[in-house]
Amino acid sequence: MRPICTLLLLGILLVLSVFGCGGRGRGRGRGRGRGSLGPIVQPPLVLPSLEITLQQGVGSSSADMVEYLGIHASGGPWTSGLEYEWQHDPGLVRFEEPPTVYLVQDMTDRERAITHYAVALINRALPYDWHIEIGSDVPVFLQETAVSDGQIHIGFPTGAPDYFTGRPGSEAASGQSVYQEYDEQQQRWEKVGLRAANVWMNRTHFDARGDDEATLSVLVHELMHALGLQGHVESSQFTEPNSYQYGAWKPLTGGLVESDANAIYALYTRLGPVTEPEELSAQSLGPWDQETTVLMGQFGDLSFGVTHQNGLNRPWTNGTKPDTDLSDNRALTGTVTWEGGLVGFTPTQSPVSGDASLSVNLGTLDGQASFTELQSWPVETVPTQGMGGIQWRDGTLEYDIAVSGNFLRSTGGDDGVVSGTFYGLAYEGVAGSLERTDLTASFGAKRE
Ligand SMILES: [Zn+2]
Repeated sequence: MRPICTLLLLGILLVLSVFGCGGRGRGRGRGRGRGSLGPIVQPPLVLPSLEITLQQGVGSSSADMVEYLGIHASGGPWTSGLEYEWQHDPGLVRFEEPPTVYLVQDMTDRERAITHYAVALINRALPYDWHIEIGSDVPVFLQETAVSDGQIHIGFPTGAPDYFTGRPGSEAASGQSVYQEYDEQQQRWEKVGLRAANVWMNRTHFDARGDDEATLSVLVHELMHALGLQGHVESSQFTEPNSYQYGAWKPLTGGLVESDANAIYALYTRLGPVTEPEELSAQSLGPWDQETTVLMGQFGDLSFGVTHQNGLNRPWTNGTKPDTDLSDNRALTGTVTWEGGLVGFTPTQSPVSGDASLSVNLGTLDGQASFTELQSWPVETVPTQGMGGIQWRDGTLEYDIAVSGNFLRSTGGDDGVVSGTFYGLAYEGVAGSLERTDLTASFGAKRE
């Protein structure tokens, strides 16, 4: 019996491994527009100066992680709504190697942009050599049992796929397909690894909702199921608000919440392909360092940084989400430039800092991200703009970028991956991550 999990409004148990989930719609909760008196041409913003800090902190403990992963490993039963309950086989199961994500070819630019950013947020919680890549398109959405080994297919079909036996009205689901072996001694089938998965997002629902932020949160939630975190953690079980609560999707702007980030990191770097509930312990996670070191840049209300814990450098960004899409912002035309800074760590934890400049042609939605004057600093020192560091490599990294909706991603240039999102009601800011084998960084910039 493969795992079963479903959602909020599903009324019947599904036969195979479908995780159905969904978030109740929540309004964006922000006023639209900035009033009718604003000028069409906006004056340049006065740029606040970039403030860089290096702080010690305390992150999730191994006991927190054992409890959190234990909920996912418990098999449930989970409940949602008034009358729906389901359970699945206990235990944690993960891919043996980094899976590759494939998008169904009919996905819109907007759906693709959200999907790329969702994968980027999960990658920020994983070491670079575990990063999930996005492959070429697949022609149609397949049931998870038909997905090839090591793949996760993501689609936004209109309505539910034919095989989906859940209750109509479901908005999103993830299916897992596992390898199994027959255990002669116990006379039962045992899971031995995660083989393939899919994520189904109901286009009809998400189009009508028209909220990229909510779509992103739901997609990340389903991707976490697809990667092996099967449970739904209620806030009464775990105090930190997180993306596993029903009906209250955590808005994710620039990173997973800490417990999810640590759980996906622990599942993929500390545990084997299968972990039975009784095998999960602080010892099974190996040496666990609760201390964090946070290198952070701040531009007024826009912040970005890299948190180091347990050998992982995890980039994040934070700010206010825009109220419209970049291309719909009538106040901006031509090529728009944002200027700011970058902070990051090398694999040996030397801080790196530099300048960041992003420009986007609003006609084509293509542009460039340039990181210049890159300098490295001795371990545990705070980078100070302009003095004391030594040039890092040749001091410059350049990327071609593409923008869709509120998200950007690199499409070419130097080695590495850039992903980001715009901030500020009128696109005053942009922030994101730059990840490569020799640098994990985050950047933030304000519009000139
Ligand atoms: Zn779910």
